[in-house]
Amino acid sequence: MTNVLFIADVIGSPGRAAVRHLLPELRRRHDLHLVICNCENSAAGMGVTRDTARELFEAGCDVLTGGNHLWDKRDGHEFIAEDPRLVRPANLPPGTPGMGWRVFRASNGVSVGVVNLLGRVFMREADCPFRAVDAALAALGDQAKLVFVDVHAEASAEKIALGWHLDGRVSAVVGTHTHVQTADDRILPKGTAFVSDAGMTGGFDSVIGMDRHGALKRFLTSLPERLVPADGDVRLNGVLVRIDDLTGRAQSVQRLQIPYDKNATSTGTCRVLTGAEPAEAVHIEARLRVHALTETGVQPRLALVSVGEDPASRVYLEKKLEACAAAGIEVDRVMFPSGSTTAQVVARVLALGADSAIHGILVQLPLALPADGQVVLEAIPPHKDVDGVHPENAGRLALGLPGFVPATPLGVVRLLQHWDVPLAGRHAVVLGRSHIVGRPVATLLSGKGCNMTVTIGHSASGPELRALARQADLIVAAVGRRHMVTADWVKPGAVVVDVGIHRLPPPDGKGKGRLTGDVDFEAVKHVASAITPVPGGVGPMTVALVVLNTVIAAERQSAGRART
Ligand code: NDP
Repeated sequence: MTNVLFIADVIGSPGRAAVRHLLPELRRRHDLHLVICNCENSAAGMGVTRDTARELFEAGCDVLTGGNHLWDKRDGHEFIAEDPRLVRPANLPPGTPGMGWRVFRASNGVSVGVVNLLGRVFMREADCPFRAVDAALAALGDQAKLVFVDVHAEASAEKIALGWHLDGRVSAVVGTHTHVQTADDRILPKGTAFVSDAGMTGGFDSVIGMDRHGALKRFLTSLPERLVPADGDVRLNGVLVRIDDLTGRAQSVQRLQIPYDKNATSTGTCRVLTGAEPAEAVHIEARLRVHALTETGVQPRLALVSVGEDPASRVYLEKKLEACAAAGIEVDRVMFPSGSTTAQVVARVLALGADSAIHGILVQLPLALPADGQVVLEAIPPHKDVDGVHPENAGRLALGLPGFVPATPLGVVRLLQHWDVPLAGRHAVVLGRSHIVGRPVATLLSGKGCNMTVTIGHSASGPELRALARQADLIVAAVGRRHMVTADWVKPGAVVVDVGIHRLPPPDGKGKGRLTGDVDFEAVKHVASAITPVPGGVGPMTVALVVLNTVIAAERQSAGRART
């Protein structure tokens, strides 16, 4: 089954905003495979420009169709001639730029032909739409079993006649142009979905999308009056057609009338997946388990080792200290000055490893030179490695065996599970392959617990990485590059997890600047269906999972089990 959404005439910026905000949720809810949108009024209510078209594509439209106003903006002409995602009316004189029909690949791999026609009744001269569509279907041949026709016409009679003319020959005939949605949607006897007019996407406190005061003045005075798109009572109109892939016959047709309240939330329908709530759930679990341990005389204890004074690390260390104290875990702070050697740090880590009162050892990276972080991490006994950085724990994770999993990747998965983000069978693109974030995240997401199909991107992936990311249902960004993931990296409706942490310079040069991530939150929230914020997303989960891992280490050691 192929699910096609047709979005009725988009009127100016209010209409475009409605598409941008509502389409991600529609994509998710209706499992859409192709989105076709009539764009001929998308630029200030008349015509299309390259920019308005780009906005509609970025919002998630796959195909744009036109009508009699398509050429109203001069700066749209080149775009109409060049862009293969636009279909202009087919029944125009030979030599008109652009194409009147094209074949598109829906996201499920099915080919869909799209034809655009102009009516001739009460409209500017155009060639016969009946003969034009016959010619288009002949040219389409067997390139596409599924064919969608947008008939841009004034007279219902002409559109209904075209519906009968095409019944059984195309999958859907949908009327546009009057901007008033008609209630005659049905499947014609031979399997063609039909509606006389799909309506409009724009302000309904209006005269067919344009400011009603100006429109009324025109009627009352007959004087020319500039019309501007209305922005009151904005709604998205359209039709959803489900089509059988084998026969090309429509199985259902459903009219849509969706209100868009631009003041409802700053992110429209994009959910902000905060870390506070899932982190609190982990903290509660940790506190309860610490309580149970102390009842049996076991006091969980963590050694926090650092070398030198890394300003960014100091913040993390303070947060971990606070969180451990709140959970009832005692912490030994082991601080080496800058210049300490690897041998000195390793000797201390080995001693902590042999100390039965210490259950967990966490080495805060980066270490000041010349201390070698990797050598120090390998000195941690695997059963005390609460950050899951020892090669044995990394190997255990890869094999699906019990061990310690790095806190941040585990935090990412717990956060997604807390917010009920569907994972199984979906495609994740993990940006970054570090041992501490990217690779273990990818291992967890592709493991039996999450069952995702995972692609890993890195600095050598090249420019194709953006296109790969755009195929993902879930993007996890852990590249350490501020705002690398912009709106055009994200498939409409995808979920985006931002692991990156960057501190921006303070605007006035004083105090601390604010934190931001690897994702351009302000742009991506208009495309994604859910996104984690920075700060307040993955960060709190990392801290919470360090605490929980320490409790688990204490439980295992007190039970005489090093690992399980
Ligand atoms: P690393 O620097 O160790 O790894 C970055 C990864 O991103 C590498 O695999 C690198 O590829 C890849 N990469 C870099 N540039 C590009 C690019 N242009 N295109 C594609 N891939 C690229 O960083 P971490 O994994 O340790 O951390 C990543 C981010 O997460 C940082 O901002 C860090 O501060 C943050 N972080 C946040 C935590 C939290 O609790 N929220 C915890 C840990 C980290 P290659 O392998 O080819 O070099």
